Amino acid sequence: MSISSIAKKRIDNQYDVVIVGGSFSGLSLGLFLGNAMRKVLIIDANCPRNEYSQVMFNLIGRNQTEPTQLLHDARKELAEFEHVTLQRGVATHVSGNEKAGFSLRYELLDLEKNSRQWFEVKAKQLVFASGVKDILPKIEGIETFWPEHIFHCPYCIAYGIKGLPVAIYSPNNEAYMMAKIISKWTGDVLLLTEDKVKFSEEELVELARLNVNVNTSEVEKITGDLGDYIELHLATGECISRRGLFIHLPFHLNNKPLFVKLGLDITEEGLVGVDDHYQTSKAGIYAIGDMVTLIQKVSHAIHSGNAAGFAIDHVLSMLVDDVA
Ligand SMILES: Cc1cc2nc3c(=O)[nH]c(=O)nc-3n(C[C@H](O)[C@H](O)[C@H](O)COP(=O)(O)OP(=O)(O)OC[C@H]3O[C@@H](n4cnc5c(N)ncnc54)[C@H](O)[C@@H]3O)c2cc1C
Repeated sequence: MSISSIAKKRIDNQYDVVIVGGSFSGLSLGLFLGNAMRKVLIIDANCPRNEYSQVMFNLIGRNQTEPTQLLHDARKELAEFEHVTLQRGVATHVSGNEKAGFSLRYELLDLEKNSRQWFEVKAKQLVFASGVKDILPKIEGIETFWPEHIFHCPYCIAYGIKGLPVAIYSPNNEAYMMAKIISKWTGDVLLLTEDKVKFSEEELVELARLNVNVNTSEVEKITGDLGDYIELHLATGECISRRGLFIHLPFHLNNKPLFVKLGLDITEEGLVGVDDHYQTSKAGIYAIGDMVTLIQKVSHAIHSGNAAGFAIDHVLSMLVDDVA
């Protein structure tokens, strides 16, 4: 089911809850609130973080499912609710507060008509489920092979490529830990440190025992055959072929300027700060999914949507004008 076909439902102006982001966390919240009889609008730009992954791991009942298939199934479930609307669009402006209500402006992207329209809607409670963006290091060629051969998380791929030759790019103090974790899946690990890591004697013995080959050269370029292998071109002139390269990637929040303007607390880790109910530092504004945790997994995103839904429905139920 496409987002635009669901968008045929009437666009209204006043909602109980508006959710910005309709991927795993936003759809989970939409489902919870749909079941709770809440009038909900989900605005989604449709770029989930793992959209280019062929399969995803560690969701019970759906291990190694295509992420796009799961999202498709979730949208189909939501289409059953008359009072939940999902639209493809981009939220750009937010104002207001819990007492007066929130206003949200967004650009509706109608792919069938190839047109763009602006809308303004009002919400009693507002939720950001808008995710984060990974930042790739500046290595020539790396973008071509992300994420098919460039891996930011072993738990999201390593079982699927177990036994194959891999490399770890870790010019930092996570190198030893990454090598220990990743060598569970394969006995052929190349650890690239760009000479920025000093291992202890004990660590060197352990890396040798695990057959981890430490290389201190810089990585200059990545080439390869997409879907098959990559070639790591090192400053020494060596060219090493691998199935994939593990890298610890930094990330940034999508829509950070919007959060700063709203005065939401941002943590030292670069996440939106929330309490146990996923409420941000501003009453009536919630945040869920990857943007609030370092355990950035589909299972957490789904859980946080449910947990926030529970809290939001309780808050709405206590409003005096909430009785239908
Ligand atoms: C390569 C890769 C592989 C992964 N593999 C796994 C795996 O195997 N198992 C696992 O559990 N996790 C995996 N993950 C992590 C998983 O993708 C995330 O945990 C999950 O996508 C988080 O869901 P989310 O709803 O928080 O955010 P996202 O999925 O990132 O969705 C955010 C949504 O908000 C939308 N949005 C953003 N800004 C706006 C705006 N202003 N207006 C409207 N919409 C907006 C975006 O377009 C997007 O659709 C992987 C991640 C990557 C990068």
